[in-house]
Amino acid sequence: MRYINFEESSNIDPDEFYMKAALTLAKKAYEEDEVPIGAVIVSQGKIIGKGYNLTERLNDVTAHAEMQAFTAASSYLGGKYLKDCTLYVTVEPCVMCAGASYWTQVSRIVYGAPDEKRGASRYGKLFHPKTEIISGVLQEECAELITSFFRQKR
Ligand SMILES: [Zn+2]
Repeated sequence: MRYINFEESSNIDPDEFYMKAALTLAKKAYEEDEVPIGAVIVSQGKIIGKGYNLTERLNDVTAHAEMQAFTAASSYLGGKYLKDCTLYVTVEPCVMCAGASYWTQVSRIVYGAPDEKRGASRYGKLFHPKTEIISGVLQEECAELITSFFRQKR
């Protein structure tokens, strides 16, 4: 049997499913007047770490969504490496987060919208060679959140 309604079927693309979870966190950041970026880390079909941008609330430029998700996932697993894990993040990781992802050796990174200014892919090979990078999942929704955030700021 083939499903047509992907919203209600279990046949929904897993990458889109988890990106939606990351988007929910990004919206939380938006509500708290933080740059709306959200991240989740998934291992064996389970979310084991999540985070959203908290640089304003914590007065901490390192409080990116990915950094918090890495810390939470490592703490959950009781180990610093995130092999067999996927990081879902609504916007392309920056250089700092790409560097952190290198140390975790995370298996996959799936991101939504590219970051034309700060995205790590503009600065050479910063990701771990074993990390598979997938871009453009729910790209429009992820980008729209950022665009409307900065439009409202002006
Ligand atoms: Zn970052």
